[in-house]
Amino acid sequence: MTPAFFQTPIDYLKGVGPNRADLLKKELGIHTFQDLLNLFPNRYLDRTQFYKISQLQKTNAEVQIIGKITHIKNVEQKRGKRLVASFIDDSGKMELIWFRGHKWIRENLKLNEAYVIFGKTNWFNGLFSMPHPEIELLSDYEKSLRPVMQPVYPSTEKLAARGITNRVINTLMQQLFLESKNNITETLSKPLLETLKLSSKKEALLNVHFPQNQDLLARAEYRLKFEELFYIQLQLIRKNHLHKSKIKGYPFPKVGEYFNTFFKEHLPFELTNAQKRVIKEIRNDLGSKAQMNRLLQGDVGSGKTIVALMSMLIAIDNGFQTCLMAPTEILSVQHYNSLLELCNNLKLSTYILTGSTKASDRRIIHEKLESGEIDILIGTHALLEDKVKFKNLGLAIIDEQHRFGVAQRSKLWLKNKFPPHVLVMTATPIPRTLAMSVYGDLDISIIDELPPGRKEIKTVHRFDANRLRVFRFLKDEILKGRQVYIVYPLIQESEALDYKDLMDGYESISREFQKPNYQISIVHGKMKPKDKEFEMNRFIKGETQIMIATTVIEVGVNIPNASVMVIESAERFGLSQLHQLRGRVGRGAEQSFCILMTSHKLSENAQARLKTMVKTSDGFEIAEVDLRLRGPGDLMGTQQSGVLNLRIADIIKDHEILKLARSYASQLLKSDPSLSSPVNLPIKSTYIQLSKYRNIWNYIS
Ligand code: ADP
Ligand code: MG
Repeated sequence: MTPAFFQTPIDYLKGVGPNRADLLKKELGIHTFQDLLNLFPNRYLDRTQFYKISQLQKTNAEVQIIGKITHIKNVEQKRGKRLVASFIDDSGKMELIWFRGHKWIRENLKLNEAYVIFGKTNWFNGLFSMPHPEIELLSDYEKSLRPVMQPVYPSTEKLAARGITNRVINTLMQQLFLESKNNITETLSKPLLETLKLSSKKEALLNVHFPQNQDLLARAEYRLKFEELFYIQLQLIRKNHLHKSKIKGYPFPKVGEYFNTFFKEHLPFELTNAQKRVIKEIRNDLGSKAQMNRLLQGDVGSGKTIVALMSMLIAIDNGFQTCLMAPTEILSVQHYNSLLELCNNLKLSTYILTGSTKASDRRIIHEKLESGEIDILIGTHALLEDKVKFKNLGLAIIDEQHRFGVAQRSKLWLKNKFPPHVLVMTATPIPRTLAMSVYGDLDISIIDELPPGRKEIKTVHRFDANRLRVFRFLKDEILKGRQVYIVYPLIQESEALDYKDLMDGYESISREFQKPNYQISIVHGKMKPKDKEFEMNRFIKGETQIMIATTVIEVGVNIPNASVMVIESAERFGLSQLHQLRGRVGRGAEQSFCILMTSHKLSENAQARLKTMVKTSDGFEIAEVDLRLRGPGDLMGTQQSGVLNLRIADIIKDHEILKLARSYASQLLKSDPSLSSPVNLPIKSTYIQLSKYRNIWNYIS
């Protein structure tokens, strides 16, 4: 597009003026001609179809009818008057109603002439009525060149109240097109348009605002969606490339002694193909001169720990230190123990640092870190303290990504001359489409395969009324030597009630499962950390058979003997939470179970969640359903929802276009990184313009 013309303030469009300009800016963020051009309709009204009055349904949808007004009368009501017209066709009778503009209507509407009316209908007292219809003489209607598909633009209450109706926006759009004429220039390259058979920019804009038929509209939408996603991807991938060329990392050229010895002699099992692939991806990153910034996604139990360890060994082989940070003390201890076990024979210096590390031990750790004696440091947030200084931190691994903020991550960077390579591991899969749009500038590795021989966790949905049967089942399992989790929801807004539920539950379970045959642990957020730890440890050691808890156990604890997970009020949990909770079991050799308890009152959405849980244990599949049920903004949290503030594309519905856009953006940057080839000029200038006028920054926080 010709930037200058389209950057004209909206005030200068004929028909706008200062008041309307003000409203358009405040309500719809329309400041310039271009902003208006990019205001895309939410939907279209099909004005090709006509209804008979006798065909009307009580659904309150918009309909178009041909008929005549037989008479008009004023009806007095509590507040003011209303004007009512009787309207008939050959099938029946209805009413048209106006609350304002009576004078004009009285003076202009003709009796017994054919009119076309359009609007929403109401059903009252055996009669349909249409308030404030769009009304036009049939003869005029037939002459007019109205679009058959009438666009409906986004609006707000304030706009409607101040008279900027959809009709007005339509008129403004027409005016804009009249003035734009030859100013709309192409924003994609010729080869791209030809390969993908896309409409030109001009055609697309024209057809999205004034579609002549469904086909043209579909083509126009496709082109505009592709363009929107293409430029976002271009931006994200370019950011990633810039990051790689600007931010130097420590190259780890060799795979040495530690890695090879471990791989040849100590690997406790054969790696899955997914693990092998991911280790290769990480090795490639570490071998390059760029700093690695990689997200490792893998379902609970998919074997991320061994990947972390082998990555660390590469760093150590190259003379660097490494650290592994986990969100809780318990998880840190578990990582520490499993790493010690795995590298038992490797003679590595491995330490753990958490909030409860004694001051004297802390000092020793600080010293050994600075002297370079420590190879692997494992711990919690304690690793981020200023006093923790590495001699040469080469690789930082972060487990359970969503618990740490970006700011905390970057703190790790400051511990060095060069930022260390960073590997973030998460067990909450992010749907691929979402990951592409939100983390497009991160590299992503995926472990999409579980180690062989895992028994699928049997998941069932039970109603509260079946509680006794569930209790009997729990007793049987405990008799076999298993342990059981019973989890209650705890949501901030209903905290007091939730605690009551938890305590009531505890009481009834204590009554059912009495000492000395049964021992029960309870853990919740109101307990002191020390008491929590104590109770948790009793369960870990097997002294108690039942662990009653709020969601504090959500993250990563590994207790192979615990094979039953009961989730109370399961309808109140989100899908990803349910999936995380279920992941606490199924870690041992025994058949594991997950029992979702609910009342009979279930929303449609809750039913969909429960059904999904029963049907599948594939974290990616669950994540996709979650995305569909909750929408992208909710899934990613408000902090990132700006990224998903798309104008026309929808990352769920349009994920095929998204994939295409990403692949073309990536190809383009590979073949012409600086976009300097003449054929890419339209792309380059659009890209620069988008960055300059901040439009694209709306997407990228
Ligand atoms: P997560 O991805 O949840 O962190 P872990 O790394 O804790 O998973 O692995 C879960 C369990 O699976 C561990 O007991 C681990 O030893 C085992 N494991 C990991 N990879 C394999 C494999 N390739 N073959 C067999 N068992 C494996
Ligand atoms: Mg883990």
